[in-house]
Amino acid sequence: MTSIGKSTAEGVLDRPATVRVAGVDVPTGLFLGGEWRPSASGSRFPVEDPRTGDTLGHVADADPADAEEALDGAARTQPEWGRRTPRERATILSTAFDLVRARREDLSAVIAAETGKPLTEARGEVDYGGEFLRWFAEQTAHLHGDYAVAPNGGFRVLTTKVPIGPCLLITPWNFPLAMVTRKVGAALAAGCTAILKPAEQTPLTAALMVDLLHQAGVPEGVVSLLPTTGAAAQSQQLMSDPRLRKVSFTGSTAVGSTLLTQAAPHIMCSSMELGGNAPFLVLADADIPAAVQGAMLAKFRNGGQSCVAANRFLVHADVAEAFTSRLTEQVEKLTSTREPDGQLGPLIDRRQRQRVADLVEDAVRGGARVRCGGAVVEGDGYFYQGTVLDRVPHDAPIARQEIFGPVATVTTVTSDRRAVDLANDTPYGLAAFVYTRDLNRAMYIAEALEAGMVGVNRGLVSEPSAPFGGVKASGLGREGGPTGIEHYLETKAISLDLPPLKA
Ligand code: ADP
Repeated sequence: MTSIGKSTAEGVLDRPATVRVAGVDVPTGLFLGGEWRPSASGSRFPVEDPRTGDTLGHVADADPADAEEALDGAARTQPEWGRRTPRERATILSTAFDLVRARREDLSAVIAAETGKPLTEARGEVDYGGEFLRWFAEQTAHLHGDYAVAPNGGFRVLTTKVPIGPCLLITPWNFPLAMVTRKVGAALAAGCTAILKPAEQTPLTAALMVDLLHQAGVPEGVVSLLPTTGAAAQSQQLMSDPRLRKVSFTGSTAVGSTLLTQAAPHIMCSSMELGGNAPFLVLADADIPAAVQGAMLAKFRNGGQSCVAANRFLVHADVAEAFTSRLTEQVEKLTSTREPDGQLGPLIDRRQRQRVADLVEDAVRGGARVRCGGAVVEGDGYFYQGTVLDRVPHDAPIARQEIFGPVATVTTVTSDRRAVDLANDTPYGLAAFVYTRDLNRAMYIAEALEAGMVGVNRGLVSEPSAPFGGVKASGLGREGGPTGIEHYLETKAISLDLPPLKA
């Protein structure tokens, strides 16, 4: 049910167009110049409920004129926003954090509706995503420069941090709130203006979040929201304009590589959080119940649709059967329902489910054994059974590609060295996990794993205070943690002549 506000002559809606999703009114326009608007051409696109395949509503589809206007606004408001005192920016961000907490149930309901993830996980995302606002609010008031004596004397070097400038923030659909707050929070804290391009599958959560930022006091023009079905053309347009100074992207390696090419002509600062192929090592001395508990989190959170999801379980032969049978028992117990109260949601869309089904079929043809699951769930929506495969050849496509689905693949290894070699035998390097009772071995293995993040006896590495990001083809830069904000700042050195005092 979509209620569309009447357009005035300027195209500004006299009341925001909203759609009611899971009992929550969500703006469906673009957010430009501090207002909700239809797109310049009036076109819209549907948002699907992955549990049923039904349309939840339609949102405005930004076109080139809208992108131009967003960048005009970001460039125009950049100097003023960059001059705001850190305390003012911090206050706005902490107000946004409070609003997210107050609207926890509404945000969770909308996340669950457009991603299909279970409501309990959606609530977890709101808590996690909200924390970025608090984290960056705390950081913005504590950005310090340096004062140094030039080694040969005579002058001093002062350094200060300045906002990098207008940013394009492109987010994926799997964590539609947290990926927005992780980028927008950092940009605003640093004093940058931002254009947010949410994933076309999940523009509603982003709209609700942008509305909260507006309510929290973010001035007009400082944040714009541009959902679009023409992501490639939009980014090309914006990135060819030298007024844009930064792109931060979370998504596939292929798109990240395209964006880096587009960033090159203007030497644009780029942060890339790209695909992963996380290994999960279970050593011979691991606490098996704990490893299985960690595996359930690392693999089945968000139905495996996470870039840090465990993609390959590399398990020592001594414990392989104990681990795999216990994991299978747990996976068989996962419930899926078309209400958001199950434990395993659907995949985001038909195409993604088909990819997962093809990877599993291919693995089975290549010799893998199905311990449970292994098929689509018939009926509405895009559900796939929780699946465990063992005897998976290390070079099978399912072990080389990011699965992004609820499928655990187990490969048996006979030494720690072999486990580490296989773990690193991938172009990716986002997350890795290791389970062992021996902290000494754990630390050596954590050091040897080529990954930006390593979970030791822990199935979850995402945390606002920990730097998030990858090595190799998994990306550039870090988000959150002590250094995430630095990626939105330039260091400026001011050299000051200081001749000796005359006596
Ligand atoms: P996925 O396949 O998981 O959807 P993508 O990398 O395609 O991952 O998408 C992540 C985000 O990047 C989404 O917001 C999407 O709209 C956007 N996107 C996709 N293609 C491009 C592109 N060529 N340029 C800029 N953004 C893009």
